[in-house]
Amino acid sequence: MRFQAYRTSQFRSRASFLVQSNHSRSFSQLQPALEKRCSFGIAFDVDGVVLSGRVPVGGSPQALRRLYSNSGALKVPFLFLTNGGGVPESRRAVELSELLGVNILPSQVVQGHSTFKNLVKTFENELIIATGKGEPAAVMSEYGFKKVLSLDEYASYFKHIDPVSQYKRWTTEQISNRNSHVLRYNVSSERVKAAFVASDPVDWGRDIQAAFPSERLGIGAFRIALESVFNRIHPSPLEYTTFGKPNPFVFKNAEAILSQFLPSDIDDKENTGSQSFKTLYMIGDNPMVDIKGARQAGHPWFSILTRTGVFKGEDNHAECPADMVVDTVEEAVDYILKREFTSQFFFSYAR
Ligand SMILES: [Mg+2]
Repeated sequence: MRFQAYRTSQFRSRASFLVQSNHSRSFSQLQPALEKRCSFGIAFDVDGVVLSGRVPVGGSPQALRRLYSNSGALKVPFLFLTNGGGVPESRRAVELSELLGVNILPSQVVQGHSTFKNLVKTFENELIIATGKGEPAAVMSEYGFKKVLSLDEYASYFKHIDPVSQYKRWTTEQISNRNSHVLRYNVSSERVKAAFVASDPVDWGRDIQAAFPSERLGIGAFRIALESVFNRIHPSPLEYTTFGKPNPFVFKNAEAILSQFLPSDIDDKENTGSQSFKTLYMIGDNPMVDIKGARQAGHPWFSILTRTGVFKGEDNHAECPADMVVDTVEEAVDYILKREFTSQFFFSYAR
């Protein structure tokens, strides 16, 4: 999943934007000067081959110097081929030059995201998002993409996009500068055309959420991510048990708790045991969680689906239809009270 570009039909938006102008530097035209034609070339991995962290290993500086003539011209064409990334090739070249003691040009640095350059023509003037450690937006801008937002910046456009942001002890540059932050694009009206994962995402949960801003993703999304990763790298699948809706246990437990509640006008001594309910209402916005759970729990649960959250449909949910669909919780409570008081009145009248 590394270094993938995602076409983003999920991203909202269309229309106008505030002007931004980035100029791509044509560093890729700068080719190293070869002393003379050479019949072979070399590609070096970086981590674990020429560097360990920021420390040269395996005599790499000396080895590389042998590829240059005394005049400094390149005798053997070589480049670095690494899955690493997160910084522009120009900056990585400067860093490698300093650490290895030879003059490395940007065109000799091929990182995991370097192939994104090939997509400049497709997305050059489109609004795109870049994510990953380091400076993914700077990387994309240097490639020539004109309208780039880092995912940090994109997420800052949506106040409540991250359901656990208040528990995070780190802050992004955008969050720390929120007061002075100027929104460069109208992302509610301009469509984001692609998201580029340039390097390892740092804030996975927030980044996954930002890719689907219409729906709040919680612990369930983490479970899916964990299961997906585990099952790809282990011979046997992850074994797990989930507690929480829609597990019927949750509804049985809720029923047991509710049955302990006593009206204030009934003395504890009169309590002859837990009461059984004729109906318990589950009001929820998520068909696959709230409604599915209530349906699986069966009697006495009655499910009511609202349209203020996950579910937005006109009709009932096809896969997990609720007993009733309403717009708001207020409507649901209104329905319940009318239904219950009407039926109570009916029965007392019929006696
Ligand atoms: Mg390596």
